[in-house]
Amino acid sequence: MTAPVPQTILNALTDVPMPSVPPCTVPETVLRVGEVDLPLITCGTLVVGSGAAGLRAAVELHRRGEHVLVASMALYGGTSACSGSDKQTLHTAGTSNRGDDFVALAKALGAGGCMDQDTAYVEAVGSLHTLAGLQYLGLPLPQDRFGAVLRYQTDHDEVGRATSCGPRTSRLMVQVLAAEAVRLGIALLKKCEVVRLLSEMVDGVERVVGALAIDQERRATNHGFMVIRCHSLVLANGGPGELYRDSVYPAHCYGGLGLAIEAGITLTNLSESQFGIGTRRTEFPWNLSGTYVQVMPYVFSRDAAGKEYNFLAEHYRTTREMVSNVFRKGYQWPFHATRMLDFGSSLVDLAIAIESRRGRTVCLDFLRNPLPGADGKPFSLADLDDDVAAYLRNNDALQGTPIERLRRMNPLAIELYRMHGHDLTREPLPFNVNNQHMNGGVAVDLWNESSLPGCFAVGEVAGTHGVTRPGGAALNAGQVGGLRAAEQIASRRQKMPGAELDDAVRRQIGDTLALARAAIGRRDGLVIGTVRDEIQARMSDSAGFLCEVAQLPGALADATALRRAVFAQGFAQVRPAQVIDVFRWRHLALASEAVLTAIVRYAGDGGGSRGARAYLDPAGTSVPSGRNGPLADYRFRVERAEDRTRKLMVRWTGDGFIVERQSLRTMEPPSGIFFEKNWGPFLTGAVYKPGFTHG
Ligand SMILES: Cc1cc2nc3c(=O)[nH]c(=O)nc-3n(C[C@H](O)[C@H](O)[C@H](O)COP(=O)(O)OP(=O)(O)OC[C@H]3O[C@@H](n4cnc5c(N)ncnc54)[C@H](O)[C@@H]3O)c2cc1C
Repeated sequence: MTAPVPQTILNALTDVPMPSVPPCTVPETVLRVGEVDLPLITCGTLVVGSGAAGLRAAVELHRRGEHVLVASMALYGGTSACSGSDKQTLHTAGTSNRGDDFVALAKALGAGGCMDQDTAYVEAVGSLHTLAGLQYLGLPLPQDRFGAVLRYQTDHDEVGRATSCGPRTSRLMVQVLAAEAVRLGIALLKKCEVVRLLSEMVDGVERVVGALAIDQERRATNHGFMVIRCHSLVLANGGPGELYRDSVYPAHCYGGLGLAIEAGITLTNLSESQFGIGTRRTEFPWNLSGTYVQVMPYVFSRDAAGKEYNFLAEHYRTTREMVSNVFRKGYQWPFHATRMLDFGSSLVDLAIAIESRRGRTVCLDFLRNPLPGADGKPFSLADLDDDVAAYLRNNDALQGTPIERLRRMNPLAIELYRMHGHDLTREPLPFNVNNQHMNGGVAVDLWNESSLPGCFAVGEVAGTHGVTRPGGAALNAGQVGGLRAAEQIASRRQKMPGAELDDAVRRQIGDTLALARAAIGRRDGLVIGTVRDEIQARMSDSAGFLCEVAQLPGALADATALRRAVFAQGFAQVRPAQVIDVFRWRHLALASEAVLTAIVRYAGDGGGSRGARAYLDPAGTSVPSGRNGPLADYRFRVERAEDRTRKLMVRWTGDGFIVERQSLRTMEPPSGIFFEKNWGPFLTGAVYKPGFTHG
């Protein structure tokens, strides 16, 4: 930033107030299931979750005349409202003041492989519409005096398609979408968590017909259980942040994978997740990307006795190489196995992992410049790699200390940690490498519909990304997905469903109520906290960014054994207020087994390191080197090109998982789509029908 920005403006970008939402007043009736009376609400489409993706879907549905109800576990919970980084990124079309090429953008989105071609193109084309919609609603995207949105380059982005409103971009997106939802009078249940999807056979096809939820505001009666009947349902319940111990998600992100798995919905690319440096969930979960590392703070570790180690000097050959790679973590933020090679930036992540395994705490110190590296040369702003020096010069960031450079480039970054109790101007910041995003998830078609008809998935719960994604593509995918799901649902012109439910659905409800009853009544089952700790430790230790192939089958066997125990014995000693946790951890036991199933199959078939996972194998053909020679314990398998062209599909059968390979969806070349030829299919609604292609 070239001119000092007044504190009030900085505060408004970091401390984002959210609109208040009136109580939900949708009429309800009573449904008797066995001996229990449950409230029953009927709506057209139920949106599960109120993050950026769910609210977008709700607003777009309402605008198309659909009757919509949003049920959210926590109205302003989840990653969109509660997480961030130095500046959160939104990745869209439109670059370098020259416009964009949707085909090129689609290729960039799917460059890591395993992404359906049509979905990538849909996200590229849709980004213009959704970005403009957010601007229309008041999202304060920075622009130049001609009205062009300011942009920069982010990770996996060769061109510079990223933009941002600062560290709270996604929260600001939630803010403007929530305000719009309130303005439109959309009904929102603010503390209502869906615990089971309900489905029945309709005309010989099983389709979603509603959901069983626990509304915390009605906990006094039947633990808050209620039934919501709908003709369409949009899963927008986010990613599985609670799956890992080392996680930079905000607390209480359980995600929607388990709910979908239990309903027999097909999932895809579950082996693909993103990991990178950040501060821990136990303190203030935040990604340390961008300027936090571009100012090159001193990175050190500390042992239990308080002794400090300049540990990066063990790995890099010179001071210049060491600090330039710390800088590059700014835009090469996610870990990538190949960047561990040739003294690249992911050697920083590996070095952090080695320090953590030695029992040391790793910290960033913004008050000190880096200490000399292995060549003994003192840190100097005059001795940096060319890209690093140019960036700092261009940003007038050649001040003497990291904190001064940070204050110059991004004062918000300091403000943000101050707001959360950590003063970077006074003390070092502990951090580590964390799980940050699930790239896989519910398999969807090009309208975001899942394998269960009527049930859509948008945002992080949808497995649309493939192996890697440019930074900011997650928020874009959620916006475009919300829009596409709404368009498809509206095109069907469905009547409001009646209140009747068949025997199969009543059984689904009854079985779920029984799980809660049993957990409260018994003393001899599993303890929720123990199950949580076991799942999180296994996922971080065996399925983190460093994945030892030899350990994987054992980890899967243990995850299966735990899930079986959860299903057979259930939980015990559950207080009535904790009933909701029974379902969260049952679902995460399933999700953990599903993710490990996908990883084991991928690695078992010979799959190699890709995305943010290195598959460590003594028979691997690549080995990262530190300055003292090869780091033999971290020898890894390399990716095989053929694995980029297919997805692994995972489906729960009720007793285990079926895993299948599937080719990626392709699409007709957009250059063959012309106005006169295709106006008709749009006017008649043929474009929304399954199987339609532009001839
Ligand atoms: C630290 C961090 C930084 C990130 N930075 C970026 C970035 O710069 N750019 C980018 O594109 N992406 C980024 N991401 C990823 C991005 O933030 C998420 O993918 C995105 O916000 C997910 O939005 P969502 O609407 O799908 O889910 P969420 O925002 O997580 O919302 C989920 C909603 O579902 C509700 N919910 C959950 N379970 C249930 C249930 N069973 N019933 C009812 N409601 C339920 C929750 O209360 C919440 O309202 C980042 C993520 C993290 C953790």
